[in-house]
Amino acid sequence: MAGEYAAFHRRSIEQRDAFWREQAQLVHWHRPFSQVLDYSRPPFARWFVDGQTNLCFNAIDRHLDTRADQAALVYVSTEVDQEKRYSFAELHVEVNRCAAILQSLGVARGDRVLVYMPMIPEAVFTMLACARIGAVHSVVFGGFASHSLATRIDDARPKVVVSADAGMRAGKVVPYKHLLDEAIRASAHPPEKVVLVDRGLDPGMPRTPGRDLDYAQLHAAHANADVPVVWQESNEPSYILYTSGTTGKPKGVQRDVGGYAVALAASMKHVYCGRPGQTMFTTSDIGWVVGHSYIVYGPLIAGMTTILYEGLPIRPDAGIWWRIVQDCRVNVMFSSPTAIRVLKKQDAAHLSRHDISSLERLFLAGEPLDESTHRWISDALRIPVIDHYWQTETGWPILTAVPGVEQTPIRFGSPSFAAFGYDLRLLREADASEAGVGEKGVVAIVPPLPPGCMSTIWGDDERFVRTYFSTFSTRQVYSTFDWGVRDADGYHFILGRTDDVINVAGHRLGTREIEEAISAHPNVAEVAVVGMADQLKGQLPIAFAVVKDAAQIADAAQCAAAEKEVMATVDRLLGAIARPGRVHFVNMLPKTRSGKLLRRSIQALAEGRDPGDLTTLEDPTALDQIRAALQGG
Ligand code: ATP
Ligand code: MG
Repeated sequence: MAGEYAAFHRRSIEQRDAFWREQAQLVHWHRPFSQVLDYSRPPFARWFVDGQTNLCFNAIDRHLDTRADQAALVYVSTEVDQEKRYSFAELHVEVNRCAAILQSLGVARGDRVLVYMPMIPEAVFTMLACARIGAVHSVVFGGFASHSLATRIDDARPKVVVSADAGMRAGKVVPYKHLLDEAIRASAHPPEKVVLVDRGLDPGMPRTPGRDLDYAQLHAAHANADVPVVWQESNEPSYILYTSGTTGKPKGVQRDVGGYAVALAASMKHVYCGRPGQTMFTTSDIGWVVGHSYIVYGPLIAGMTTILYEGLPIRPDAGIWWRIVQDCRVNVMFSSPTAIRVLKKQDAAHLSRHDISSLERLFLAGEPLDESTHRWISDALRIPVIDHYWQTETGWPILTAVPGVEQTPIRFGSPSFAAFGYDLRLLREADASEAGVGEKGVVAIVPPLPPGCMSTIWGDDERFVRTYFSTFSTRQVYSTFDWGVRDADGYHFILGRTDDVINVAGHRLGTREIEEAISAHPNVAEVAVVGMADQLKGQLPIAFAVVKDAAQIADAAQCAAAEKEVMATVDRLLGAIARPGRVHFVNMLPKTRSGKLLRRSIQALAEGRDPGDLTTLEDPTALDQIRAALQGG
């Protein structure tokens, strides 16, 4: 890779301190830092040492002189048919009132506040209010079952939980409070107080006198609140966020304050190209890292308007997102491959019904973006669609195009290049040496991790080192647990997770590669491949596919023919060694609530094991289909 971006990236590694000192100017420092990086205790990195700043100040207060009346937060709900707009000045008022509420309940710097809320403005107020007073928020995805919630309560030990009576999904009320009560009963460290936003959706919401308080009442009592910003040392914790749990027990990712602010500001400028006054629409949920970074903090720090959308991508119809783009004049959009695949199954005419000319770029992350989906959405929108790759742990992209520095050509199916600050390597599993061009390796980052990345696992430094930095015995590097490959032009491709490898007659095959090949079949919408024990070959790939047109596999003969065709597709693209032993057709695949394929549970069923922790599973009946398919032979 040559060119302007390559030079930018090189400087971020070779002149690390100077590079980040410069980027740090994008945020406000109450007290300047004395040291860019303290790396005296590897692999723990402390960024902008002694500097004092505050995420809420950077997101709101700093803009009051220049853009007080500009919209900061626009809430659009197709679930309760509501739209609300908060200017920076109004957001400032709301966040101050919320901060005063938390303080009145005894929440102080360093205390944890657990947020278990639907996508409503009060959730954003609460996050920002915590940041304002130096409290540590832990947002738990609304709708997680009580068991998941209880384990997170016990790990984070919040003083206060902020929640709501209910959320809405597809027009149906999803009660939150009942689940929360169950979780608190099951918890060893229950919170002192619970603050409830009563949306009037669940008239039967139970309340525990003395513990449960009403947000509206407290809000009224703190009408003129003016809560001073708590200036935090850059390395104090800002939040805890648990990973999706796709590969196992969720890990409590701890993030700092100053490094995070700088990384977000720098990525908003160089990656997302979001300018002050523009509008960003991120379709994720505040319960995920994407929501933290690019619904709440990133756009606001950049002086942009951010959209908080409560609803589905296809309700009232598959044009809803494009209508929002039109009505709010959205400039930057961020979504997921899963969501785009959902839209792809709908009528393409929805795209042309709205004026989306304001949209400059669409970013996608969270799952591998297959080439055909990437091509489809690019053709449909006729703007750059940028696949970028990151993790809850990193808080911002690891691999991405960086159009704010250089408009590099997009290659379908590739998240392009290492983001600035990441000393990214593809390492051979056997000896941690560097993989060559076209050779697959473990995506690894030579520490220190750049600003914005996790500081540690909450309450467990030892687990942080053991989990992420111990993959190779010869070298202390951060492992992403994903496979990647780089082509001769420096473009990267993610090939799947390192624990998703199967061994067929001595050949190590990534299940992701087989999935990509099967996706090339015109009637396959989605597919999951796992390895199944086989007497002869050790393991044999087994595929579970969702078809686009079910009419084509209506009877047994058609199913058998389709299965043969899929096998032939794999033979052609990868060779017979990768041919699946069986291709089962199902209506849906088991996914986490963040839209990720839960391959480990399918794998477990295929091996006759218990499917493990399923608390993050979106729809448990998806596993029943897998089970039935396996038993059907
Ligand atoms: P856990 O770590 O608890 O098992 P998780 O890894 O699913 O859960 P996240 O941090 O939400 O939790 O997801 C990060 C992972 O998502 C990456 O490691 C990668 O496997 C996948 N991913 C994210 N973006 C992309 C992308 N653009 N292309 C391919 N894979 C991606
Ligand atoms: Mg992970």
